[in-house]
Amino acid sequence: MREITLANGMTVEVECLSCALTGGLVELTGGVVYEDEFFHAHQDVAYPIPGLVILASKRHFYCMDELTDDESFRYIELVKKIRDAQRKELGIDYVYYFYNEDTTHHFHLWIVPRFEWMKQFGKSVESLRPALLYARNEMNNEENMKNVIESINKLRKVLT
Ligand SMILES: [Zn+2]
Repeated sequence: MREITLANGMTVEVECLSCALTGGLVELTGGVVYEDEFFHAHQDVAYPIPGLVILASKRHFYCMDELTDDESFRYIELVKKIRDAQRKELGIDYVYYFYNEDTTHHFHLWIVPRFEWMKQFGKSVESLRPALLYARNEMNNEENMKNVIESINKLRKVLT
């Protein structure tokens, strides 16, 4: 068991945070963006970037080659749908995707919109962590959070 501190300051003890999140054991600020029998999409508001989505499997596994055929098909379909919604509803031109298999949480894809302000951290993969940290440390204010929640609501509306 590991103790994890959530965005709202609460701590939970879980075996796997992704299992806790996708299983509904943890209440998410802003709620669930999308959910079906295979996948669960939400925003991690600890990183308050409007339109950021984390797409996690419901099943507990870690690697891309462990996806079943049904999950594979749904996965691509969903990534496309989320991307389309980000573009049409939120005007997001570019997105960075990040996924690693040596994670303590199970299979999940970070879908991170690319904004102008992120250019100060460079481009491509090296800019990702500094941009996320900047959002977490400098953008955690009421006005931005309102924007983040609105974005979640817009995405949920078109995805469900
Ligand atoms: Zn898990």
